[in-house]
Amino acid sequence: MAETIENLLQEMEAYARARQVPILTEAARPVFLRTVRAAAPRRILELGTAIGYSALLALRESPEAEIVTIERDAETAETARGFFRRAGENYEARATVLVGEAEKLLPTLSGAFDFVFIDAAKSRYPDFWLGVQPLLTPRAVVAADNVLFRGLVEGEGSEIWPKHSYRTMVLRLREYLRIVRAAPGFRTEIFPEGDGMAVSRRDA
Ligand code: SAH
Ligand code: MG
Repeated sequence: MAETIENLLQEMEAYARARQVPILTEAARPVFLRTVRAAAPRRILELGTAIGYSALLALRESPEAEIVTIERDAETAETARGFFRRAGENYEARATVLVGEAEKLLPTLSGAFDFVFIDAAKSRYPDFWLGVQPLLTPRAVVAADNVLFRGLVEGEGSEIWPKHSYRTMVLRLREYLRIVRAAPGFRTEIFPEGDGMAVSRRDA
């Protein structure tokens, strides 16, 4: 019999803590859940599966939805599949994990997704934004996690030139925010909770 999803999610939180897997933070969770609920998606696309935590949350929040989620690390993808299996048939059957670089796999997908969660390589966010455009439904919502990366992207404290190892990432996240704010037909809100989440709703 399938374990309860609540117990499994808690186990995943402990697993991620012990191995420092950067899953959705506790602070960002309510923002994520509200965003998924409001989008009421049928087809979800996720870039950056990790162990499948945000994917399971999204599926729990939208019982009718299926998810395609992309993970570049094969072993991590296997771990996610294991958790989906343990969540039970109702979850496993609705989740497809693709292994590879999101930027390479996006052009091979066919639409239409009404919710996209961008949570893979932060320095690729501008490319991911462009890559998902052909896959969006007319009422799609695109959420991007960690866009304020440790407060280095915008606002107080962000005037300091970020240290070398973060520089490209921070510059690309700034570029991402510029792009989504200027994107015609989208309305973007930035939620500061956790590491910052940008939610762009198509309203064309
Ligand atoms: N969404 C997950 C956390 C994802 S962590 C959650 O909240 O539960 C980011 C993941 O993206 C890591 O597992 C990393 O291996 C993967 N990743 C990084 N760059 C990627 C890329 N270019 N394509 C696909 N996956 C990538
Ligand atoms: Mg994240």
